[in-house]
Amino acid sequence: MSAQQRTSKNKTLGIIGGMSWESTQSYYRLINEGIKAELGNLHSADLLIHSVDFELIATLQAQGRWEELGDIMLNSGKRLKAGGVDGILIATNTMHKVAEQVQAATSLPLIHIADATANAIKQQGLTKIALLGTQFTMTEDFYKQRLIDAGLQVLIPYTDARAEVHRIIYDELCQGQLLDSSRQYYQQVIESLAKQGAEGVILGCTEIGLLIKQVDSPIPVFDTTTIHAAVAVQFLLGNAKSS
Ligand code: GLU
Repeated sequence: MSAQQRTSKNKTLGIIGGMSWESTQSYYRLINEGIKAELGNLHSADLLIHSVDFELIATLQAQGRWEELGDIMLNSGKRLKAGGVDGILIATNTMHKVAEQVQAATSLPLIHIADATANAIKQQGLTKIALLGTQFTMTEDFYKQRLIDAGLQVLIPYTDARAEVHRIIYDELCQGQLLDSSRQYYQQVIESLAKQGAEGVILGCTEIGLLIKQVDSPIPVFDTTTIHAAVAVQFLLGNAKSS
């Protein structure tokens, strides 16, 4: 496709990334691959990325200091807005806990990861879905309720399994460690949720897709990084809905 075929509909997207950078690089690749698939040739995505220091973010999360986390996220959003973006994407599930603050502070469209995921699941005609992610994502309303409001029934692992799923995210996946033992652990958790009736599983942490692929699961996997990036591509092309 020629340069002239990029239209005025094309947009610039601001990504709040670095949570962790292991998954931000997946977003960067997936969004650029998506734009190339749509437009061909040397086309690539018009992006601004503000990447934060995840050590600080994870520490504040563990201490429950969400007001400060909200301030960090909304300041990041404002910096992206000052850079001229047309919309914002927060490249993590967990930090959607403060998504509304980011949206209010920037007055920009925000591509919400839970909405994108709920839409993808509904398109497959599934209603009963397992959710894996951080403790915050699995147990708190900011994420789960959004899926329920979209008409989904959400199953989460038992208490001990939730703790281990969470630990693996921070101690391993966000640090670039992909261990077979952890893959097997996640597989067991998914199998147990499938036995409880889950028709699919949300990889509701943007690093889980680095460890678990469709081949590792007896039920369909919904990788939030892939789904979110696909909606970002449509936004960049001027086609997407955002909240
Ligand atoms: N990337 C992970 C997520 O999608 C966890 C990192 C974070 O706490 O933001 O939730």
